[in-house]
Amino acid sequence: MAESIEKPIGMTARPTRPQEFYDSIKRKYAEERDRRLNYRPNGTAQYTSEFSGELSRYEVDPYAGEVKPREPINDTVEVLFIGGGFSALLTSARLRERGLESIRIVERGADVGGTWYWNRYPGVACDVVAYDYLPLLDEMDYVPKDHYAKGPEIFAHCQAIARKYNLYELATFHTTVTSTVWDAAEGMWNIETDRGDRMKARFVICANGTLSKPKLAKIKGLETFKGHSFHTSRWDYAYTKADLSGLEGKVVGIIGTGATAVQAVPGLGAAAKELYVFQRTPSSIDVRDDWPTDPNWARRLPQGWQSRRRARARMEPQLTEEQKAKQAAMTPEEKIRRQENANIEAMMKIHRRIDSIVKDKATAEALKPWYMLMCKRPCFHNDYLPTFNRANVHLVDTKGKGITEINEKGPVFEGKQYELDVLIYATGFEVQKTGIYNQIKGEKGLELNDKYRDGIRTLLGIHSQGYPNLFIMGGYQASFQFNLTDMLQAQGDHIAACIDYARRHGFQSLDATGQAEEWWVNEVVEHRGKTTRNQECTPGYYNFEGEFQRRQDGNYNGGFFQYCNHMNEVQARMEEHFTFTKK
Ligand code: NDP
Repeated sequence: MAESIEKPIGMTARPTRPQEFYDSIKRKYAEERDRRLNYRPNGTAQYTSEFSGELSRYEVDPYAGEVKPREPINDTVEVLFIGGGFSALLTSARLRERGLESIRIVERGADVGGTWYWNRYPGVACDVVAYDYLPLLDEMDYVPKDHYAKGPEIFAHCQAIARKYNLYELATFHTTVTSTVWDAAEGMWNIETDRGDRMKARFVICANGTLSKPKLAKIKGLETFKGHSFHTSRWDYAYTKADLSGLEGKVVGIIGTGATAVQAVPGLGAAAKELYVFQRTPSSIDVRDDWPTDPNWARRLPQGWQSRRRARARMEPQLTEEQKAKQAAMTPEEKIRRQENANIEAMMKIHRRIDSIVKDKATAEALKPWYMLMCKRPCFHNDYLPTFNRANVHLVDTKGKGITEINEKGPVFEGKQYELDVLIYATGFEVQKTGIYNQIKGEKGLELNDKYRDGIRTLLGIHSQGYPNLFIMGGYQASFQFNLTDMLQAQGDHIAACIDYARRHGFQSLDATGQAEEWWVNEVVEHRGKTTRNQECTPGYYNFEGEFQRRQDGNYNGGFFQYCNHMNEVQARMEEHFTFTKK
């Protein structure tokens, strides 16, 4: 396999400086965080994802083409997926392997793919190594083209999975589920959609993704802008053209500098007459060590290579005796200090990389992130930083304040008007909400989000008592994995096992017991309370934009290995964790 010269910095840097140095950096981190919190005390409410009236155009699907009228569907299936992204595809594959025939995907977009259907912005790619990220490579007999896959390859892989497992046959696209209501007498879910469908399904899987609904910052005057504008997940290629030649001679602005903007900015900088990048908080930009897959290596891969690779990733980290002894000799405070110092060293390397690439000193300073690595999604790119050396690219650093005003000509910051032809919102997505666009009513008609009002309550982040035969994928209280598809695969395997269990035993439904749910909520709370890390982080979607009090509303932090163990335990003792009803 070809070797890249520059290796990613990762978290491998060793702390070797006096403690005062690290303490001073931590003070600077705290100042930067407080500055941001002061500018936006309203937390997640600073954003909107309710796009009505003028804003509704930001959510229109530009890729769908003409939506053909069709008759409403009034039938019954065994398993119905809400959403057609990786969650649905992976779980369907496992269900098919267990002999389940009647599977329907109901999807808002015009095809399967989820994130990879919607996100087609120029430069779109995945930061997780493709041999790990692209799922079902053994089953699909496919080896990705490069070390890191680009968006179109991943989208094509999703379509290939849907073809292989015959998922297109019953799928309905251009269709949004609006209500999902449990009928206890029948032991079935009733599903209604925006196309007038009234379907029934025995099992429903909420596979609507973790970051699916685009959001916009609530910026004063946003709707008054007279130029062209769109959200990155609804890229307007009719305007920009596929090769971005439509931006020739145009002054373009992009709001946001998260993982999406980092990938889109190099292409925009090369195509636009002028590009203004409006930054509130910089991302950390590490090296992207990409290379084309060596065909000889690919040819020699043994059968089942990806499953073995994934199994290794799920194993508990093995420490040497020396490492164990060293750890045992440290107090918890010392361990945390050591981790923090190493993290700071890694961030200082990120800073030095910026200095070595970005020529203008003030721009280089402004691009430096001041927070612990992983407070925000780390980014990996080789062209983002050099783009700021172009004469036509301008960083507008709002130093944590953000753009607060837009008028008909474009954004205004500190009295300066930025007159734009095109304004692109790279402001991200609503996070991990179960039942977007949809009302889920379980036993006693209780809406799921009403049940969650005083805190999310689930078993494994997948089951919630009072919602029999409903499974949630990629939601809160599940484990977090940088390689999301590994997590989804683990959940998909578990869900397929539960459904298989119910079918084999002749049960119509299964529902988590109150005791099992209580156990899991406590597990989540206990593991979230271990460090003050979330509080110390700069605000972002990882920590609810600084709304720290929501302890049980995050991910399960006990580790992926433990999470998989707990799933296995639940599967081994189903009767202890669920109540069942017979047909
Ligand atoms: P993010 O939520 O990460 O970023 C939103 C950006 O908008 C932030 O930089 C935020 O600043 C900024 N912002 C919000 N309001 C304003 C304002 N008023 N003025 C200026 N800036 C503002 O969204 P992304 O779409 O970038 O990424 C979402 C996630 O999608 C990623 O975290 C990642 O998980 C996934 N993804 C993965 C990719 C990959 O594998 N490479 C590529 C793309 C996305 P602030 O930071 O201050 O809040």
